[in-house]
Amino acid sequence: MKIDSDDFRVKPGHRVKLKDWATKIDPLHASEDKYQAHLDEHKQELAELQSRLWAEDRRALLLIFQAMDAAGKDSAIKHVMSGVNPQGCQVFSFKHPSALELDHDFLWRSTCRLPERGRIGIFNRSYYEDVLVVRVHPEILAAQALPPELIERKDIWDGRYRSITDLESHLHRNGTEIVKFFLHVSKGEQRRRFLARIDDPEKNWKFSQSDLKERALWGKYHDAYEQCLGATSSKHAPWFVVPADRKKDARLIVSQVVVDRLRDMNLKYPTTTPQRRRELLSIRHKLSD
Ligand code: ATP
Ligand code: MG
Repeated sequence: MKIDSDDFRVKPGHRVKLKDWATKIDPLHASEDKYQAHLDEHKQELAELQSRLWAEDRRALLLIFQAMDAAGKDSAIKHVMSGVNPQGCQVFSFKHPSALELDHDFLWRSTCRLPERGRIGIFNRSYYEDVLVVRVHPEILAAQALPPELIERKDIWDGRYRSITDLESHLHRNGTEIVKFFLHVSKGEQRRRFLARIDDPEKNWKFSQSDLKERALWGKYHDAYEQCLGATSSKHAPWFVVPADRKKDARLIVSQVVVDRLRDMNLKYPTTTPQRRRELLSIRHKLSD
């Protein structure tokens, strides 16, 4: 089945109401075999496009994953990226900031981890946490050691959106493209996944007490996500709201969006000039001596 990336893209300036965005769509695959074949197709194309990105060595692609707990960020990253050359790919997971990180502005720790030219960078959570979890928890903002008059500003969140969109425009002007995914899971599906993490001993490690606390703040998180998605989806760094109640559909949509983005970058293997070709032929001649 053909997937249209645009169905999931947040248009710039659009006011997002998450209840209007599906967490589940009609299954994109009629059977396990068809799903696997579809994903394999995407992975093959992704591997080919990544190889050109690497060879061209001029541009980079940054993929950002954000979601409520247990929405499937890790497994989407694992399944979608499993076919690409590890040499050309970097994954960073952003957790609670360290003391050193808190001693800097909120973008600092991410800018050090941006993908180098020729690479695909993946942020599992990102600087967006600073307008999400930090907005939901005023005590985390208070601990960011900002001057009090800056913390108290009413436009602090608009200011952060601006810092983010300015950074993303800057990156676009310098050869890094960005695609952002919000894996949209329903509260009921999160509950099912938490129960599985409790009931299955092999999944126990994935569950933490804090997951329950954050779940109780579901509405506040969704408010923060709605404002953030609306304020920061741009032409060059669009957000995609991916229905995530069915993990396989989510993986197919994510991989389709990534393939489309890389295709749009019109990546080419570096071409050989006639002079370089002559040089190579002369070397070849010497090698056959
Ligand atoms: P999983 O979905 O498997 O639980 P995870 O991404 O939630 O993975 P955890 O180690 O459970 O990983 O959680 C990391 C925590 O760090 C999240 O609760 C996130 O909100 C928090 N975090 C990330 N960035 C910041 C930040 N800048 N300030 C405060 N907390 C942050
Ligand atoms: Mg977690």
